[in-house]
Amino acid sequence: MPLNTPCRRAGSTSLALAASMALLFAAGAAAAAPDAKLLAAANAQQPAVIETLYSLVTIETGSGDVDGLARMATLLDDRLKALGFKTERRKTTAGAGADIVIGTLKGTGKRNIMLQAHMDTVYERGILQSQPIKQEGNRLYGPGIADDKGGIAVILHSMKILNDAGWKDYGTLTVLVDPDEEVGSIGSGETIAALAAQHDVVLSCEPTAAKDVAKTEALLLGAAGTASVVMEVKGRASHAGAAPELGRNAIYEIAHQMLQTRDLAKEVPGTIMNWTNVISNKATNQIPELAVARADVRMTRSGVEVQLNEALQAKIASSKLVPDTTTTAKLTVGRPAFIANASGKALAERGQAIYKEIDRELVLVPMTGGATDAAFAGRSGKAAVVESFGLAGFGYHARDEYIEIDSIVPRLYLMTRMLTEIGKN
Ligand SMILES: [Zn+2]
Repeated sequence: MPLNTPCRRAGSTSLALAASMALLFAAGAAAAAPDAKLLAAANAQQPAVIETLYSLVTIETGSGDVDGLARMATLLDDRLKALGFKTERRKTTAGAGADIVIGTLKGTGKRNIMLQAHMDTVYERGILQSQPIKQEGNRLYGPGIADDKGGIAVILHSMKILNDAGWKDYGTLTVLVDPDEEVGSIGSGETIAALAAQHDVVLSCEPTAAKDVAKTEALLLGAAGTASVVMEVKGRASHAGAAPELGRNAIYEIAHQMLQTRDLAKEVPGTIMNWTNVISNKATNQIPELAVARADVRMTRSGVEVQLNEALQAKIASSKLVPDTTTTAKLTVGRPAFIANASGKALAERGQAIYKEIDRELVLVPMTGGATDAAFAGRSGKAAVVESFGLAGFGYHARDEYIEIDSIVPRLYLMTRMLTEIGKN
């Protein structure tokens, strides 16, 4: 795994944590008796979690729904205050203009721990009319219930369990809930990155896939980063019938440029690039003056977008089909790639051992194509970051989204046990 400079600088503390987590893992692997108190508390908490899910889903929170997001921020602010947190609502720096909710608790331990989730959903206002909240057997349906209101519920009720147990084994415990994850965290990503860099551990609470779909629950250690390329060709317009030779056809040139760059990402390991959109002239009797193409880019390694951009610029400059045309291309990074560091991996392995205590399997997924806020949290390389501590669910970004009710207790147990273990280090 190539590390950029800030990652390497942070390596010593990360590795120290990794080593201590690995020791813990080795010590705990054989014993595997569940913490009876935490398990009983998780069981007792289940009805309250379901109640919380109802109140979270009842407030519609599409990423552009500023009213809904404001109501949700107030609810979360109140809930965190009731748990003893000092809270803050920080304005996003771009986008719809909603608030990030940040809660802080001061403990008596050493480790600084951050828990994160997002309050926004992909659904348009009114979705509850066609997809109301309903329970059918083990499934609780509702728009955004898995992605990511289940994650918020895990955080709130894990903190309730640990508060009731008098747990204070942390230096600072921060909860961050952002309102724009589904639109690339355009107004909260920098806040997440800056805050996460002040913590030793970040547990991110996106959902894990339902067991009737994925068979096994998972923790996520990597997610592709996203970027886009906008390529523009300027040619010269002319009459397509009377004087085509005076024109400089921007479509011919952009077709040439797209074809000569279509396999470029294969030369830059860890990148995928596909041209996905072209727009040009509306008129059919004119040699087109302008053409614009867009490409979707995914990165599975840190920093590879810089190499891809260099290769792209060099390729474009290397060959031109239509003389007198000008081609420019701009690569813009959306989310960076998320690649868990050594201490993140050790932490996830600890999670596997904890799940074994309650006879459940947990798979560690090294990389997915989906994007996540864990990428911002892990950007500095300073914190151990692990993703997918939310509830098990399915149907996100689609129809009939649900969570599995029987994942509530295991997930509360996992989170509370993780936190108490981290606190011991
Ligand atoms: Zn999500």
